[in-house]
Amino acid sequence: MSNNNRPTLEEVVALCKRRGFVFPTSEIYGGLTSSYDYGPLGSELLRNIKDLWWKEFINLRPDMVGLDSQIMLNPETWVASGHVGSFSDPMVVDVKTNKRYRADHVIEGWMEGKEEFKDFVVEDLSTQEMGQFIKEHKILSPEGHEFSEPKEFNLLFETSIGAVTGEKSKVYLRGETAQGIFTNFKQVLNSSRVQLPFGIGQLGKSFRNEVTTGQFVFRTLEFEQGEIEYFFDPEKTDWKELFEEWQRKMMDFVINTLGVSGENLRWRQHTDKERSFYSKETYDIDYHFPFGWKELWGLAYRTDYDLTQQMKHSGESLEYTDPHTQKRMIPHVIEPAVGIGRLFLMTLVDAYWKDEENNRIVLKLHPRVAPYKAAVFPLLKNKPELVGKAKDIFNDLSRKYPVIWDERGNIGKRYLYQDEIGTPVCITVDFESLEDESVTIRNRDTTKQERIKITQLEEYLANMLD
Ligand code: ATP
Repeated sequence: MSNNNRPTLEEVVALCKRRGFVFPTSEIYGGLTSSYDYGPLGSELLRNIKDLWWKEFINLRPDMVGLDSQIMLNPETWVASGHVGSFSDPMVVDVKTNKRYRADHVIEGWMEGKEEFKDFVVEDLSTQEMGQFIKEHKILSPEGHEFSEPKEFNLLFETSIGAVTGEKSKVYLRGETAQGIFTNFKQVLNSSRVQLPFGIGQLGKSFRNEVTTGQFVFRTLEFEQGEIEYFFDPEKTDWKELFEEWQRKMMDFVINTLGVSGENLRWRQHTDKERSFYSKETYDIDYHFPFGWKELWGLAYRTDYDLTQQMKHSGESLEYTDPHTQKRMIPHVIEPAVGIGRLFLMTLVDAYWKDEENNRIVLKLHPRVAPYKAAVFPLLKNKPELVGKAKDIFNDLSRKYPVIWDERGNIGKRYLYQDEIGTPVCITVDFESLEDESVTIRNRDTTKQERIKITQLEEYLANMLD
């Protein structure tokens, strides 16, 4: 897709609402900041992305196992991981409206389009330096007011358990899924057949008290993550080779599994200042979203930091004993961590195609990720013979694939609807079908139609998905 044909964020948001991919959360009450619900179509697309992630990184790999840990963990977990002390973003406040903004985002927004700041990395600035930068360049809030000095704002959501509230019953909603992997490391080791190097992967909700708004599902308070901790012995496995192998796997997933074109993807290495102190190397895959190049998927070599921290705070050994040499050591990890909502938004943006020649909008989704693999129509809804035959086809196919039924309006309108929700093919039962057991199958991208035998439909869809 050429860049000038790319959709704006507004166009994507409008399609999502119009066709039932994403709705603002509790909209009847005016919504909730940075919160969205996935509608009938969105929940299918989201589930497809998650299933593909699970299949690719867990099921197809002998060296990976899955996990499903709780959202609320023993709060000491978050003290150990450093989240209670320093999981924060630098915040500035509009002195008149009291609205909060992320200092780094304020600076990034101001620098946009300014050639002299093209290579400037805002993350390299300390909180104090961000304050100085804002003052020096007289950057104002969107309402035109001055900002306060930046302060660190902790992102963890707090809640309490039991009947009594107070320090003792305070718990956090997890800020990432990864720590549940570290706290279960020993249990996985003792209960399964894994040996280093191996990985544990988890899909699940995480929560961050973010203040940024206006980036749709890119940045939300509640979001789903797919995180992997890949454990290894640095004396036996070259971390650089392993890191590069994960880079290839991640990019391969985005391009070949999700079917996203490579031109809007890039690798970005974190600078020394930006990287966490315990990380030896961090790279992000960035995607060119309608609001700029942004982090899609992070890859970090976190050394043995997390296991060591959890060991210190719990007093439990989280060491690994080599089955051959009996050597005891704390494994190191490489962590690929992605937000499923970001994969979802990228997939939609990338698939959005304004087909001007045919005056239509098409979601050119790969059939693997498309919510429905085919639509089944009777040519006319008031002809029981056509409806009956089409229903038989729908019932047969839906046992194997998600397919959608539609009998409303004329065929042209039905095609346009299916194009907008990304259904790769439409199958129509007409009068000829009653005679020759064939149907018309119409391709979403080319709009070409062909006749095929009903008995060949299943094979046709299988080939398409391969
Ligand atoms: P950012 O710099 O964009 O805030 P991050 O570096 O804090 O992201 P990580 O802590 O590395 O993010 O989390 C791993 C992944 O989780 C990110 O690459 C991103 O895809 C996703 N993610 C993080 N925060 C959010 C959020 N608020 N909403 C949606 N996805 C998120």
